[in-house]
Amino acid sequence: MSRAIVLGVDVGGTNVKAALVAKDGRVVASVSYSTEAEAGPEAFAKTLHHRLENLLKEAGLHKADVASVGIGLPAFLDVPKGIIEQAVNLHWTDVPIVDLVTAELDLPVMIDNDANLAALGEVWKGAGKNAKSALCVTLGTGVGGGIVLDGRVYRGVTTMAGEIGHISIKPDGELCNCGHYGCLETLASATALVRDGVRAGLQSPRGHDEPLSAEDVFQLAESGDQAAQTVLSTMIHWLAVGLSTVANTLNPDTIVVSGGLVNAGDALLGPLRVEFSRAALHRVANGCRIVAAELGSSAGMLGAARLAWQFADSEA
Ligand SMILES: [Zn+2]
Repeated sequence: MSRAIVLGVDVGGTNVKAALVAKDGRVVASVSYSTEAEAGPEAFAKTLHHRLENLLKEAGLHKADVASVGIGLPAFLDVPKGIIEQAVNLHWTDVPIVDLVTAELDLPVMIDNDANLAALGEVWKGAGKNAKSALCVTLGTGVGGGIVLDGRVYRGVTTMAGEIGHISIKPDGELCNCGHYGCLETLASATALVRDGVRAGLQSPRGHDEPLSAEDVFQLAESGDQAAQTVLSTMIHWLAVGLSTVANTLNPDTIVVSGGLVNAGDALLGPLRVEFSRAALHRVANGCRIVAAELGSSAGMLGAARLAWQFADSEA
């Protein structure tokens, strides 16, 4: 009998989410627990083993039922070698994570970065369901991205594909954390929206002492504040320029937008669709829908499970 379940694991700076997931995407049992990155990767592997045993008990399953393990990491990775090169938030460097977890769990292990797996999760079970090719963009303090082509993550040669936040679209623009100027994330993130709002003299409607937030800018724009509307439409313009650059290259059928800014709903996506159809080639824009992510914080875990299933099937 073929193995019935995989373990999908999403490692965040604060919490780990892990779940036993069936081949149809059904979550059979799940758990969230503190990452405790300071204890080191060996302790992480031991804790994961312990949590897996508990999940199996809860689900009435056994280790022999587990086909493989997929792990999403907030890190620069060498996927073919199974190595974490650098995980800034975890303070881990040069960790042979696949060997460590494989030795501890005695199961096949596959890794990818968290943004790629969030993209894979959305394409498998979320807003990008049935997409053949999708670009997923996360708008938060920065801009993250993932590319899924024909149902699989596209990683590139050094696992850097999808870093769309660092496309330089305004070379005379602001200095980015990466050392380049005018990157998309300096123009179209929550951070950029707040920075430009403050520069435009916007004040939080929640009170003069409250620091301006990205939500405030949306709210001010909605209530008719012209300066806020300008800040917002400028941000959306640059976002459309960035997305059209990638879309003209990949010609995807779906763009999934996730992250905190998506809470604004159609106030973001409505004008974004209009700007995108202006910025991208007509035939590219016509073939591409822009949708809000649906899985929230579960996207990475489900994407890790999908990766585990793909890995198990390829090894079978
Ligand atoms: Zn950059």
